[in-house]
Amino acid sequence: SKFVYFFGKDVTDGKGSMKDLLGGKGAGLAEMANLGVPVPPGFTITTEVCVLYLKERKYPDEVLKQIEEAIDKLETLNNKKLGDPEDPLLVSVRSGARVSMPGMMDTVLNLGLTDKSVIGLANKVNDERFAYDCYRRFISMFGDVVLGVDFDKFESLIEDKKKELKVESDTDLDAKALKELAERFKGVIKLEKGFEFPQDPRVQLQMAINAVFESWNNPRAITYRKLNEIDDSWGTAVNVQTMVYGNRGNTSGTGVAFTRNPSTGEKKFFGEYLINAQGEDVVAGIRTPDFIDTLGNKIPEAYNQLVDICQRLEAHFKDMQDIEFTIQEGKLYMLQTRTGKRTAAAAVKIAKDMVAEGLIDKETAVTRVKAEHIDLLLHPRIDPKVKLEVVAKGLPASPGAAVGKVVFTAEDAEEMAEIGEKTILVRNETSPEDIGGMAAAQGVLTVRGGMTSHAAVVGRGMGKPCVVGCGEISIDTKNNFFMVNGHTVKEHDYITIDGSTGSVIIGKVDLIDAEINDDLKQILLWADEIRTLGVRTNADNPADASLARELGAEGIGLCRTEHMFFGEDRIPAVREMIMAEDEKSRKKALKKLLPMQKEDFLGIFRCMEGLPVTIRLLDPPLHEFLPDKEELDTKLRELEASEDCGKIDEVKKIIQRVTSLKELNPMLGHRGCRLGITYPEIYNMQVRAIMEAACELANEGVQVIPEIMIPLVGLAKELSVTREEVCKMAETVMAEKGLKIDYKVGTMIELPRAAITADQIAQVADFFSFGTNDLTQTTFGFSRDDVSKFVPIYQKAGILEHDPFAVLDQEGVGEIMKIGIEKARSVKPDLKMGICGEHGGEPKSICFAHEVGLDYVSCSPYRVPIARLVAAQSTI
Ligand code: PEP
Ligand code: MG
Repeated sequence: SKFVYFFGKDVTDGKGSMKDLLGGKGAGLAEMANLGVPVPPGFTITTEVCVLYLKERKYPDEVLKQIEEAIDKLETLNNKKLGDPEDPLLVSVRSGARVSMPGMMDTVLNLGLTDKSVIGLANKVNDERFAYDCYRRFISMFGDVVLGVDFDKFESLIEDKKKELKVESDTDLDAKALKELAERFKGVIKLEKGFEFPQDPRVQLQMAINAVFESWNNPRAITYRKLNEIDDSWGTAVNVQTMVYGNRGNTSGTGVAFTRNPSTGEKKFFGEYLINAQGEDVVAGIRTPDFIDTLGNKIPEAYNQLVDICQRLEAHFKDMQDIEFTIQEGKLYMLQTRTGKRTAAAAVKIAKDMVAEGLIDKETAVTRVKAEHIDLLLHPRIDPKVKLEVVAKGLPASPGAAVGKVVFTAEDAEEMAEIGEKTILVRNETSPEDIGGMAAAQGVLTVRGGMTSHAAVVGRGMGKPCVVGCGEISIDTKNNFFMVNGHTVKEHDYITIDGSTGSVIIGKVDLIDAEINDDLKQILLWADEIRTLGVRTNADNPADASLARELGAEGIGLCRTEHMFFGEDRIPAVREMIMAEDEKSRKKALKKLLPMQKEDFLGIFRCMEGLPVTIRLLDPPLHEFLPDKEELDTKLRELEASEDCGKIDEVKKIIQRVTSLKELNPMLGHRGCRLGITYPEIYNMQVRAIMEAACELANEGVQVIPEIMIPLVGLAKELSVTREEVCKMAETVMAEKGLKIDYKVGTMIELPRAAITADQIAQVADFFSFGTNDLTQTTFGFSRDDVSKFVPIYQKAGILEHDPFAVLDQEGVGEIMKIGIEKARSVKPDLKMGICGEHGGEPKSICFAHEVGLDYVSCSPYRVPIARLVAAQSTI
């Protein structure tokens, strides 16, 4: 089989599509050579050889034979011999994996120089300084990369030499000095390794090839692969290529360029170059490069050719290219072309423009924009130019960055907001009572909690930057400060949080505004044409509902009615309802709540006119609506001290109720439909509010599509009993109003038992919505509010790849969902099914939802555009 692929003007074995075998660089070089673009000739040793070599630390004979043949061919083509004492052929040896791993692996330049051939080179180019500069660079690079000699050992000799000659820069060293350095470098190698620097160019080449293969497993490459989810088994290719020189005078130069602006996406050639310099000089930043536009004035012919080639490359690859070039004495050579990395804004603009230019179709454009791009575009973010001092990291719960003064209570956040101050709310954890403060703050930082903790869910819902589970912080609530890794941060000190990375930074950092521009709108409209998966939103107030609709939501998939109960004006009535000792007084309290609930639904139905609205009846355990026991105890002590007897009894009563409602595992306790069944009057009130609102709007001619959803069902009987009550009330209201409205009654599937008995449940349900938050909690037996204590450790230890509350666990939870879907469809093939857990807005989980045949995903408003995009990508 073939292990070595030649590329050059007349003979090229490979092509651009062979990235897996030739690596990105090798495939790009082959493709350019095929296109007739000037490329210095050379050959690529495949990634397969790397894998073979790393296994055995030797090569099959066939590989060695093919390398020999390729060298012969290269010598013939250049009409020069490797290491020839008169006129040596010099080559570069570079790595090149399937995907680019910038700077992670090794490169050797100027290979083929020896004590003899360096003299030949000097004579040939009539430049002794140039020849010895190449030689000393080669020896040190070879020493470092191939032989593992510390590069500083060479560097310090250069420093010594400069001191000795009293000169500032490397370029001030003359031929004699460089020649002496080359000698000393060889001495270092002898001393360190116990053998001479090899003077046989073929030996040099073989050693360099081995070293580049070995560099696949250097620690920084391994780390890079881990961070970027690159497969360890791929290996790298090696490219051996004829050297060309950008440092041969004023008609030589070297540079890097992009076919379009990688920062804005503007269709304008963009890049930098240096005259009379080598590639490393541009990257190393020793000299400041010039803008590419000015190259036209200096070496016009080569510049025009470069512009032309870049246009051809872009048209050929149909994507923005990132290229490297060298001009040697007026002649242009292309050294690399690859897909250019770009910012979120550029990705969107380039994709849209390329469709307009007829370069790509809409499907391709939709795949060119990544979910992370949209995430970044929709939230203010930290100016990437700013250098950050991160003091702690938590979970990146809700993307975007926020800057503000530290406050420790929701009330402080609200008070500060009233006087126009920006704050970051720092809490051990948040509870529904903190919602007002969260809304008032710029961002939220919590010590405890996971990706579906209250702060995270609410933060994402509000589009509010949020970092949770930051255990490195300890708050002193008495004295109003927090400690973090040796720093003390007081109330009203500034901090910055980045909810996209989980970073916490002390002080103010400059932010850049979010933008949703016409380019992004266009891409999303194309996504809508392509996708088959519906996208709804999780929203429980009119503001969120209309925002989500603007962002493209096709209805509400989850309206959590409990959030409405926490409103300042409702909490007294809610508490009265809970404190009620009998059904009669409970009903009295519920009567007070009815008009308020109805008001909520009127607003939401109106925003979602013509679209389905799934309203979930009350879910959380009742104690969540009562004050905290400790708080009550403190209050009682205060009252006793002040002898305010009137209130003492009242507080005692509340304490009694709180105590009686206390549960050991409230998440597995008296909640969901269990509440509805034991206190039917609560759901009755909610259904009345829904149906009265729907009838009123229908009377006005507004189209409403209510879907009433019952939470935490595990038994078909639970649903049938509840459903009967719901329908009875709905019919009553419709009879009162003299109207008929199409409404549905469905259920959440959020317990394993529900999924496993989905065929029974489906018979009494009009729709299903998978509540993957609770389904994850109950499948794993992981408390969703306590996972930050162990899940990050599991991830570090490789026990879990992802936080299952952020990325759906397809193997476990996903399998249970599949059982549910299959069983439900076996009795009701057309049953509408969606997902409304936090996973509904997470790209991998959205793909899964598409694959298993769900009808829609439902997610927080700011994730709606992401879901639209990913749903489309799932079909392509
Ligand atoms: C769920 O459990 O996935 C769900 C959406 O409901 P909640 O998060 O309100 O429990
Ligand atoms: Mg739930």
